[in-house]
Amino acid sequence: MDDKEYVGFATLPNQVHRKSVKKGFDFTLMVAGESGLGKSTLVNSLFLTDLYRDRKLLSAEERIMQTVEITKHAVDIEEKGVKLRLTIVDTPGFGDAVNNTECWKPVAEYIDQQFEQYFRDESGLNRKNIQDNRVHCCLYFISPFGHGLRPLDVEFMRALHQRVNIVPILAKADTLTPPEVERKKRKIREEIEHFGIKVYQFPDCDSDEDEDFKLQDQALKESIPFAVIGSNTVVEARGRRVRGRLYPWGIVEVENPGHCDFVKLRTMLVRTHMQDLKDVTRETHYENYRAQCIQSMTRLVVKERNRKDRSRN
Ligand code: GDP
Repeated sequence: MDDKEYVGFATLPNQVHRKSVKKGFDFTLMVAGESGLGKSTLVNSLFLTDLYRDRKLLSAEERIMQTVEITKHAVDIEEKGVKLRLTIVDTPGFGDAVNNTECWKPVAEYIDQQFEQYFRDESGLNRKNIQDNRVHCCLYFISPFGHGLRPLDVEFMRALHQRVNIVPILAKADTLTPPEVERKKRKIREEIEHFGIKVYQFPDCDSDEDEDFKLQDQALKESIPFAVIGSNTVVEARGRRVRGRLYPWGIVEVENPGHCDFVKLRTMLVRTHMQDLKDVTRETHYENYRAQCIQSMTRLVVKERNRKDRSRN
């Protein structure tokens, strides 16, 4: 084997690596769920940026009148020379109205519009600089105060699971004791199954991965829905400065795995599954949309042709 001449294609991964680093990466994350569940706080904690500097909070009166609105915040973050353009899509007003029937509709329409735009751009003349605004992941926040899912949660997830990767989140986990967290998680998982909701499925581990990685992967799969805590403040705990929440009886630390699943969620989103979330968006959700589009276009053409044939005879 050793005398085999070296052609050089073993450098292909390096070439791909250099090219993609030069181009930079992008990721679009949507957050949804009732207001006040800590969505903006969590996003800020996740990416250590203040993405909501210009946010205006509405009064109850204004919220009654308001319909679901979609807002976008983008930031460029850089780490060790790798650039990431992060877009956060928020859905203020979701679940705030007196009557929330079909309040998932504007969100579904938004996701479809991004697919439509991409489909148009991809079929157009200039395909070089397509801006890809497709939503790669939706963190859906579930209230810690209910008994499992509420009808609105079921409706939302059922309406969107074919369009986007949904990752369920149990919000404000510091308001629950550990057995309560476990009980709520189990109930939510059962209900997700019962209502036929297809949340994002972590891909199976390759059989040649090491044992540690497999265990970590198993733990990740069993953590759904991620019980998280968010905080925009840094406090002092055990002589260290940490992101946390200070209560008269103690401190909850956002990044302490014994306190919540925040680190697991961030590792999954950023370190281990970001590319898979993008692949599933492209290969499954966008493909579904594209196939439906082409089918309905073909149907239209056939209908038109039949109509013409009939009028000719
Ligand atoms: P959003 O409307 O869903 O974006 O919620 P915000 O991020 O604005 O948070 C609403 C309130 O909940 C604020 O007072 C936050 O300080 C508080 N909050 C955010 N995250 C948590 C959490 O994990 N636990 C607790 N107890 N409160 C939180």
